[in-house]
Amino acid sequence: MKKVCIIGAGYVGLVTGACLADMKHRVICVDSDLEKVKMLRRGNVPIYEPGLDEIIRRNVKAGRLSFGTSIPQGVASSEIIFIAVSTPPKADGTADLSSVAIVARTVAETMDGYRLIVDKSTVPVKTGEKVAETIKRYNRKNVDFDIASNPEFLREGSAVDDTMHPDRIVIGVSSKRAEKLLKELYAPLKAPVIVTDIKSAEIIKHASNSFLALKISFANALAQICEMSGANVMEVVEGMGLDRRIGRAFLSAGIGYGGSCFPKDVAAFIKISEELGYNFELLKIVEKINREQRGRFVKKIEETLWIVKDKVIGILGLAFKPNTDDMRSAPSLDIIAELQREGATIKAYDPKAMGVARKVLRGVKFCRNAYEVARGCDALVIVTEWDEFKQMSLDRLRALMTHPIIVDGRNILDPEKVKEKGFIYKSIGR
Ligand code: NAD
Repeated sequence: MKKVCIIGAGYVGLVTGACLADMKHRVICVDSDLEKVKMLRRGNVPIYEPGLDEIIRRNVKAGRLSFGTSIPQGVASSEIIFIAVSTPPKADGTADLSSVAIVARTVAETMDGYRLIVDKSTVPVKTGEKVAETIKRYNRKNVDFDIASNPEFLREGSAVDDTMHPDRIVIGVSSKRAEKLLKELYAPLKAPVIVTDIKSAEIIKHASNSFLALKISFANALAQICEMSGANVMEVVEGMGLDRRIGRAFLSAGIGYGGSCFPKDVAAFIKISEELGYNFELLKIVEKINREQRGRFVKKIEETLWIVKDKVIGILGLAFKPNTDDMRSAPSLDIIAELQREGATIKAYDPKAMGVARKVLRGVKFCRNAYEVARGCDALVIVTEWDEFKQMSLDRLRALMTHPIIVDGRNILDPEKVKEKGFIYKSIGR
């Protein structure tokens, strides 16, 4: 059993903390957001993540998981300290590391014996060095410490399962003591552990996300060629993906990647490379394809409707992907803003993101389900590929809509079936 403090109880920190507690470690999750901590202490989970409620409840009850706002308190009771705070993008694309820096300083000021400080936030290469310098500077009691990098690869929507069954665990260390502690911590998972130096671990994270974004942009570029030639991108990626060297995952055409990680991590990786003296042109094109794909999708809606002004457009799906309530950098935000600018009236529904959506969207009529959205709509636009949108009754939708138009940004409906039901149907790359 290890004593662990997780600083930053967001999508990553909270899931990591809950899962480590479930592995029988004793975990305190610390967050500066008092409201979040109050909620957690009352037994409410501030984010939607399948299975997370249950795992938190079980471990709080067993006395292995607790929540607080005080870093010194967390540091006092733990040997391993994880930094899992946000690292949002600055206007120039570089990562804002101010939260990492302040946390490192506070940890250093309160350590009263050996601590292993592990960075789990996604950070540029060489951040470990900066964290080590900061800790050295404020390490008043001059105690021993180690720094490690342990990048996180969980996916929102399946974060608990990903944490309990990871493809690999990457541990970037500079001492045997740190390596041993982290291997013991993760031993219950019986997952492959890759031990590297700290800088390599930092790069593995940015490189992995950038490569996945590259696959998405590749599929979106293929979608263009398929539309222009009359081929079907779904069949093309299926045919490619069965090749084990390529793989089918992240090879789907759509409306481009969004969310709190890919856009920010690709931009940060381009910047880091630039600072190191390398012009990562490949990633610049990945970003460009992604931007253009979003624009082309809005254009497709406009072309289908001819005049957008005063039309009622129903948006199905607001979260950046299914099974989450996260709307950070969600494609729905750009698409809705553009259609509103053109004078459309927007109705919208998402199975889990309505609470978040009400806070971030203005002038949208929120509905309780897809059918309520469809009532009186000139077009339905599928933005997030939730399962429930794959199973909608097309007859019911058609009867409710003013005009039977569906623009499917995720290729989740069968074109033949939709057209048979009398819809005008547009999708991506087919
Ligand atoms: P988040 O915004 O959901 O959570 C971050 C938490 O840190 C928030 O609760 C915030 O209140 C807290 N925080 C910020 N500054 C703090 C401080 N000084 N002291 C204490 N708490 C503080 O973010 P997230 O999605 O969990 O991401 C965290 C990190 O993990 C980021 O670097 C992100 O890039 C990376 N990451 C995210 C994912 C993902 O899917 N969300 C996956 C892998 C890696």
